[in-house]
Amino acid sequence: MEELERILQEHGIKPTANRLLVLKALAECHRPVTMAELEDSIDSIDKSGIFRTLTLFNEHHLLHQIDDGCEGVRYELCHATGDVDDDRHVHFHCEVCHRTFCLEENPVPSVQLPDGFQAETVNFMVKGICPDCAAKGKTTHTHHHH
Ligand SMILES: [Zn+2]
Ligand SMILES: [Zn+2]
Repeated sequence: MEELERILQEHGIKPTANRLLVLKALAECHRPVTMAELEDSIDSIDKSGIFRTLTLFNEHHLLHQIDDGCEGVRYELCHATGDVDDDRHVHFHCEVCHRTFCLEENPVPSVQLPDGFQAETVNFMVKGICPDCAAKGKTTHTHHHH
């Protein structure tokens, strides 16, 4: 838990029992999770408590919010170390098993914006079939049949 406390303090967040629990759940996932998945893994905090904590983490740049384009928003910890978010990576959404993966080796390509436009967040989601599903011979068409 000490490591988790340090992460909160580094982001200017006062460590509380609930915040540490939410942080621990996110840290153990290693992939972006939905609100429903977080609720499943945290029994002792209600949905609004989890949501408030996520909002706080987001305000302190400890969280990435990722829109997977079909199931809504997913959350993951931001592993950037400095003031600049250097942990913006590409995500991959499998259209067969509906899991979203972090492709940490693939940084989000920088986009040259026209004059006057300032980027706040970037969502870079690739969709297709993950290696597990491809190995089982599944295609994106199979799940439409039933
Ligand atoms: Zn898959
Ligand atoms: Zn990620």
